Amino acid sequence: MPIKQASPIRIELPFLSSEGSVNVYLFREPEPLLIDAGFNSANAWHALETALAEQGLVVADLMRVIITHPHVDHYGLAARISRESQAKIWMADVGVKWLYHFPELWQQRIDYYRDHFLPGLGLPAAGQTFLHLMQQSLDAWEPIPLDRIVNFPVTQALTLGGLDWQTLHMTGHDSQLTCFYQPETRQLLSADMLMIPTATPVVEAPLPGEPRRPALPDFLQSLERIATLDVAIVYPGHGVPFTDHRQVIHNQQTRIQARKEECWQQIASGAKTAAMVFERLYGVRAQAVGMAGLWMVVGYLDLLQAEGRVAVETVAGVWHFHVKN
Ligand SMILES: [Zn+2]
Repeated sequence: MPIKQASPIRIELPFLSSEGSVNVYLFREPEPLLIDAGFNSANAWHALETALAEQGLVVADLMRVIITHPHVDHYGLAARISRESQAKIWMADVGVKWLYHFPELWQQRIDYYRDHFLPGLGLPAAGQTFLHLMQQSLDAWEPIPLDRIVNFPVTQALTLGGLDWQTLHMTGHDSQLTCFYQPETRQLLSADMLMIPTATPVVEAPLPGEPRRPALPDFLQSLERIATLDVAIVYPGHGVPFTDHRQVIHNQQTRIQARKEECWQQIASGAKTAAMVFERLYGVRAQAVGMAGLWMVVGYLDLLQAEGRVAVETVAGVWHFHVKN
């Protein structure tokens, strides 16, 4: 009988600001592996080493790192781990191209934000800060040796801690994201798809010649899918593990519908651009909320357009919204 470890061990690593953090999850048995790799910084590395030491491990013991989605706070330390261990870096086929081609794909996203998305929002200066952050992600990228990358089919279950976990492709936060679900023990590693207070519908660059794919409708669909799963505990990408996932999902769905209605009200009362709706919806919090709030507003506007209640026309590169009667 191989040794099993039923539950992942949460390791919280620092991310950017003093309050920010991101989770990686450790399975010690039968072979040490991590779900996600945190943000690439000296203090995150130190925190990882300390947490592994508490489990009697060092980085060189790691055999596998499984990346849930290609965001800077989740794959960041993968390259360094691969240098200091024999670990293979696993990612499902739906997203693995990011491990091979991160600089090109990320540059495409920067170009799209600079030339289309940020101007479309009607955002003057505030977008520059975000472009700067995107550039920093690009500068911080360290390539993972190609022979260490393992591309696995998204239909494949993974053996983690001696148990089989189903791989679930869940779009909405990121179109490449995978969750992992263990049906017998009813555990869900949800990455950034389900977390408290909420994940955000991140806007991605469309494929050349194609329109942008609205993320919030996908996000809502994924929430519904997760609600059908029998789950006792959720291990999110950020924050502490939680139970009662259906209540959490219900609260998020209710909030999204309510905010969508507020969005409609603002357009009806004269807010023309996404930036104006954003400022009115978030008020004094707008600055602090930043791009996460803008993604939400774009999501609400996408839902209203899909419902045929709002129409958009582009005026000098800026999206202008009006209610449809
Ligand atoms: Zn994250």
